[in-house]
Amino acid sequence: DSDTTPTDTSADALRTPIVAVLGHVDHGKTSLLDKIRGSAVIEGEAGAITQHIGATAVPLDVVSDMAGELVDPDDFDLPGLLFIDTPGHHSFTTLRSRGGALADIAVLVVDVNDGFQPQTLEAINILQNTQTPFIVAANKVDTVPGWNPNEDSPIKPSYDAQSDRVRGDLDDRLYAIIGELSDQGFSADMYWRVQDFQNNIGVVPVSAMTGEGVPDLLAVMMGLSQRYMKEEMAIDVDGPGVGTVLEVKEERGFGTTVDIVLYDGTIHEDDTIVVGGENQPIVTEVRALLQPRPLAEIRTESRFEQVESVGAAAGIKVAAPDLDEAMAGAPIRVVGDRDLDEVIEEVRAELAQVAVDTEEDGVVVKADTLGSLEAMADALSEAEIPIVRAEVGDIAPRDVAVASTAEDELHRAILGFNVDVLGDAADRADVEDVKIYTDDVIYQLVEEYDTFVEDQRQSQQDTVLENIARPARFQILDDHTFRQNDPAVVGVEILSGTVKKNQYVVKFDGNDPVRVGELKGIQEQGEDVDEARAGNRVSVAIDGPTVGRQIEEGDELWIELPEKHAKILEQELKEEIPMDEREALSMYLEKQRKRDPFWGK
Ligand code: GDP
Repeated sequence: DSDTTPTDTSADALRTPIVAVLGHVDHGKTSLLDKIRGSAVIEGEAGAITQHIGATAVPLDVVSDMAGELVDPDDFDLPGLLFIDTPGHHSFTTLRSRGGALADIAVLVVDVNDGFQPQTLEAINILQNTQTPFIVAANKVDTVPGWNPNEDSPIKPSYDAQSDRVRGDLDDRLYAIIGELSDQGFSADMYWRVQDFQNNIGVVPVSAMTGEGVPDLLAVMMGLSQRYMKEEMAIDVDGPGVGTVLEVKEERGFGTTVDIVLYDGTIHEDDTIVVGGENQPIVTEVRALLQPRPLAEIRTESRFEQVESVGAAAGIKVAAPDLDEAMAGAPIRVVGDRDLDEVIEEVRAELAQVAVDTEEDGVVVKADTLGSLEAMADALSEAEIPIVRAEVGDIAPRDVAVASTAEDELHRAILGFNVDVLGDAADRADVEDVKIYTDDVIYQLVEEYDTFVEDQRQSQQDTVLENIARPARFQILDDHTFRQNDPAVVGVEILSGTVKKNQYVVKFDGNDPVRVGELKGIQEQGEDVDEARAGNRVSVAIDGPTVGRQIEEGDELWIELPEKHAKILEQELKEEIPMDEREALSMYLEKQRKRDPFWGK
């Protein structure tokens, strides 16, 4: 079709696959990237490896130099690998954006000593949801006791050169990781045994410290991209740029800027762009495109170097007016010669994909990026916790104001993922009795909130239990009438439940409860007490009846249970009350229900 659309095909090119490095904190993400960067420099290719904003590009010839015989550059036509080096917890941004994945492929770093940890599982979840292909770097193999390092060697010869015991030790750890992957529903194996990387996860033993296994890691990533992603890498480089915002940053002399990863087309100075904003898409014009200045020149006036244009895939800082409301994780699109409204609609549609379902009443959720916001919303929906508002950004006083209007006490809470608490938000929360929870592990955040809910429920129940009538059955003992009436004072034995003061007393006439009076006082061995438990013998003062008329020695009496209280006890608090009280309750209900089957239902 090059005859009909010559301009399109002439611009077609294969872009660099975008690689995200994920994993639990301290498992070695930074070290691994540093190692790759460092080795590339040592290979004498310092000029070829380029530092982007938030990313490092490793060209194919550098990959092939580092990977040695594992990569023959003639087998590949993809230009190399672009590693996103967003710090620690930004994995959500790199993965979850535009409702899909920004990264084409991911490396999940797992410390062989530590195995799967909360953030490993979170990363796995996102990889699964976004269907991002990934490999596992089983890192820190050099820490296996007795390990003999072979700097920068492929893993197989280095592994073979270890003693049997060391190999056995490492195998145990690697199989534990493979087992954990399989628990998560992935079929995984050592990478050299994997044929089909689309349906199996390859595990690559590496050391970010000694460089062992790093050649394998690069070779596997390169191979995986070439084999399964080549078609997706074919882009129109001259087309309008499309990317994702990684971070929104204040920059001296430039105001608010956005660090983006461009995954399609080209962005130029003075281009009109549309960026996803907190309230609506932002339409603005590129004032400057900034790259990191090479190390040697860093002492000059700016850390940045201005460039006229950048083509995908690349990490770049975009300076433009009106970016204050830009959101990390949001799309950015160059308008080019297209219709502005159409592009705005596209950005709107992409943002709508990560829109969170909110309810009338619920908790307030804040997160650092759109991706993490979405992940939070997923986790909360799974835990059946309703959300009233979900936004990207730090926790501000106005969030406290929103949370404080919750009708349900349990919803007076703000859950912040990887965000700060601004200004006097914390103080205001104290005053307004709003709880603020912040964490950088989603499931811990949800757990903290759940614990709060559990505690609140318990104390609500306790209050309810204090304020409702409790079932009790007691019997007047023979020869224990101390006073006939005004009030009647008789000796009783509590058969089940707890008798308290200031409650009505009933006697059943068949199945009809007849109120005989009000229990005004309890004495145990001559002392006033507030309550008496099953098994106790006490004397009680009952205002109303006369012994020998409305009540008699030997009579079985009950504390009157209002129907509403009986219902609450049976339906909500049954588990909370003691066995004997439960028994009194069911006997009471049974009598009432013989008369009226729906009593207390
Ligand atoms: P990140 O939080 O995942 O970025 O982890 P870092 O790269 O900061 O590594 C955490 C710690 O583990 C640092 O002290 C590293 O020096 C150490 N470390 C990382 N990789 C290795 C490795 O392969 N071998 C050893 N012995 N230590 C490592």
